[in-house]
Amino acid sequence: MNRYIIIHYGEIYLKGGNRKFFEDKLIQNIKLALDELGGVKVKHIAGRIVIPISQQWDLDLAKEKLLMVFGIENFVFAWNSQQDYKSIEENLYDLIKDKKFKTFRLSTRRNNKNFALKSNELDRDLGAMVVEKLKKKVDLTKFDLNCHLDIVREFAFICFDKIDCRGGLPVGTSGDLVCMLSGGIDSPVAANMMQKRGSRITYVNFDSYPSTPKESQEKVKDLVKVLNDYQPESKLYIVPFLDIQKEILKIAPPDYRVIFYRRMMYRIAEKIAQKENILGLVTGESLGQVASQTIENITAVNEVVSSPVLRPLIGMNKDEITIIAKQIKTYELSIQPFDDCCSLFVPKHPVTKADLQKISKTENGWDYEKLQNKAIKGSQIITSFK
Ligand code: ATP
Ligand code: MG
Repeated sequence: MNRYIIIHYGEIYLKGGNRKFFEDKLIQNIKLALDELGGVKVKHIAGRIVIPISQQWDLDLAKEKLLMVFGIENFVFAWNSQQDYKSIEENLYDLIKDKKFKTFRLSTRRNNKNFALKSNELDRDLGAMVVEKLKKKVDLTKFDLNCHLDIVREFAFICFDKIDCRGGLPVGTSGDLVCMLSGGIDSPVAANMMQKRGSRITYVNFDSYPSTPKESQEKVKDLVKVLNDYQPESKLYIVPFLDIQKEILKIAPPDYRVIFYRRMMYRIAEKIAQKENILGLVTGESLGQVASQTIENITAVNEVVSSPVLRPLIGMNKDEITIIAKQIKTYELSIQPFDDCCSLFVPKHPVTKADLQKISKTENGWDYEKLQNKAIKGSQIITSFK
């Protein structure tokens, strides 16, 4: 029997006239993800994506790669039987006779309506064979073995253990976004959540070298490298931020420093977005997590930009965010203990309810545009993350 990967997609299926655009992008992303296996041929058959498996492929690697393709609901490594009842019965028997299970469930989908037996008849007859020959029990709710039979076109796919993916939309089907990426736990997760909704991400990091170590730049590059597993390529701007912070020290009350840092970060990120023709920003903010993330302070920061700022983590708890960070493999990098620019020159008790009038008075006459433009000009732009 030949083997195939069968991929099911969910949300895309609901797209009306645009469906082909989403399907084409998904297929393109799957091909890219599996590229290193070599000789990948993708067929699109009746709402499934079907890929013949070559013998030399490493299926663990294929699994790892497919789990990172957004738009896939689930996939399975299947066997293809000749499409006649006798062959299906024999092949099913061969595949399960040595498996350890007491109870099982069989579910058939018959897309090829020319096949003589209906799906419930196949379930009944094949199920009876398993009960009789292997002395196993049918249990539709508490089963040890879940077996699927998919009769589609000329195929009769037999498969077990579907692998659930994260769904979402294929990267590249929604507009691009600029993510403000610190070296912390939250912002890489925020970037990944927007990749899940189909956006390609450009990253902006604010860096205070030499007051923060060179390693913190490496850490951010490593984070982007991990996130690039979800999108083929990306750009990272590392923006020199120390001079701006020093200027802020001169004008701002100590408890407002972080607010002023953030206002400059937002302004610069928006300028970079405009330069890249990108319409929206992403941050890893979560309401109330730290002083700078109260609604008053978010308001005080947000007012400097007109682009939408997407905050996919806004209603999430730290432990929920951490679970995703571990799942997407950014967590171990994020917890490396290198200082970030925001830890520089900040008092123990920053303001939690920033006063907008006080901010505008402080910034009055301050030539922040000059500082902002200089920082953008001095940015390193990184596109290779080997
Ligand atoms: P993170 O874990 O993402 O660093 P955090 O909980 O430490 O978040 P803050 O330090 O308040 O939160 O930062 C809030 C958001 O501001 C971050 O999620 C990120 O989007 C942005 N940000 C903060 N510092 C930087 C930085 N040095 N470079 C780029 N973006 C930053
Ligand atoms: Mg941080």
